[in-house]
Amino acid sequence: MSIQNAYLQELMNTVEKRNPNDKQFLITVRSVLESIEPVVEAHPEYVKMGVLELFVEPERVIKFRVPWVDDKGEVHVNRGYRVQSNSAIGPYKGGLRLHPSVTEDTVKFLAFEQTLKNSLTGLPIGGGKGGSDFDPKGKSDMEVMRFCQSFMTELFRHIGPDCDVPAGDIGVGGREIGYLYGQYKRLTAQYHGVLTGKGLSYGGSLARKEATGYGLCYFTEEMLKANGKSFKGQTVVVSGSGNVAIYACEKATQLGGKVVAMSDSNGYIYDPDGIDLAAIKKIKEVDRARIKVYAENHPNATYTEGCSGIWGIKCDIALPCATQNEISLESAQKLIANGCFCVSEGANMPSTMDAIDAFVNAGLLFGPAKAANAGGVATSALEMSQNSMRYSWTFEEVDAKLQQIMTGIFRNVDSAAKEYGFGNNYEKAANVAGFLKVADAMMAQGVC
Ligand code: NDP
Repeated sequence: MSIQNAYLQELMNTVEKRNPNDKQFLITVRSVLESIEPVVEAHPEYVKMGVLELFVEPERVIKFRVPWVDDKGEVHVNRGYRVQSNSAIGPYKGGLRLHPSVTEDTVKFLAFEQTLKNSLTGLPIGGGKGGSDFDPKGKSDMEVMRFCQSFMTELFRHIGPDCDVPAGDIGVGGREIGYLYGQYKRLTAQYHGVLTGKGLSYGGSLARKEATGYGLCYFTEEMLKANGKSFKGQTVVVSGSGNVAIYACEKATQLGGKVVAMSDSNGYIYDPDGIDLAAIKKIKEVDRARIKVYAENHPNATYTEGCSGIWGIKCDIALPCATQNEISLESAQKLIANGCFCVSEGANMPSTMDAIDAFVNAGLLFGPAKAANAGGVATSALEMSQNSMRYSWTFEEVDAKLQQIMTGIFRNVDSAAKEYGFGNNYEKAANVAGFLKVADAMMAQGVC
């Protein structure tokens, strides 16, 4: 991957000097700068106003300690982060991730991506992301509660309904959002819609839980339709078995696909009869158990230890919905060799850059994360609207808006691909489509 434009290359050198340890962030910035070369050449005014310099520098990086006490009375100290990347088109918006792998780099790259994703939704939301290296796995509810309360005790001063509205991400589901929201309310004495993904009894939106997975399938179906295909009758592999994966599996099945494999961070199951999603929901959402339990109760299913083998399963459509970098070049080559014709990303950055290049070069239909999984954040923005109105839409109303938004995202990306001559490279097209709106808003607001 190389940047041809001298100004952009110089900018990339500066970003590298400033962020020497932020590997993921650098990969992401490079990929975006490479995509937007034709835009920068067509818009010298962006260069003159320093829009690019501003765009690659987060508006704010907040880093704090999170002390908490476990059930045995032992003290632990984790690190918390919130990166507020860009507020040109609306308040910062993006999830909180709780996972031992979280570093400043993770949060910075995700916040940068989020700005483009949020722009693509067409809704007035800027980009942010947060999290901590705390691992909720194996912790009691009370330990998770104490951690969330401590995390919010610092975070609350940096967020607000018109400033920054966090949501869930890996390791942050309904339970964590509830504890975080309770502490925000206690600290501020305000009933603000300051977090999304809330429970339905206290301001959550119907269809938020389903939104990322359903939205992924709506986007993918639109992309398939534009190429004379659909989910109907296709064999589908979905990685992960968390929030995104479960509802991607549900919608892909409703649209006529047959999902034959899912995974967790230990391994994957293959069920040639088609995944029994009720069993997965019970294992993951109710029992919080490991996916291998599935194979114990489904005689035709097999369980394999290790995650990457899932991409060796023959399929027509692959929906990576677990985590970043889960599809390496080698895995991409296996998918291509087995006849897979569509890869659409439910997780954030699940395919490495060389894997994406392999998909594009092989002519696969490739739905990049920032477009394909934007349904979650779009529905979070719908939750914000409902909170502001003190009103709730029905499931069908939210789902219809989600479908409309995802169709709009595909059309926007597809037309950017055509306008800038990117062919089937929707990764580049999504970067351009997302960037243009943010850049115009930044131009209008001046150097700030
Ligand atoms: P969850 O925590 O609900 O689920 C994550 C799933 O991925 C779990 O099944 C987990 O397994 C599995 N997993 C984690 N690490 C690995 C690994 N190294 N290899 C294989 N599987 C792994 O998270 P979400 O479903 O919410 O998020 C999944 C992805 O989607 C993330 O990239 C997230 O950023 C992205 N996303 C989420 C949105 C949302 O609305 N939730 C919105 C947009 C993007 P285990 O149970 O073993 O940990």
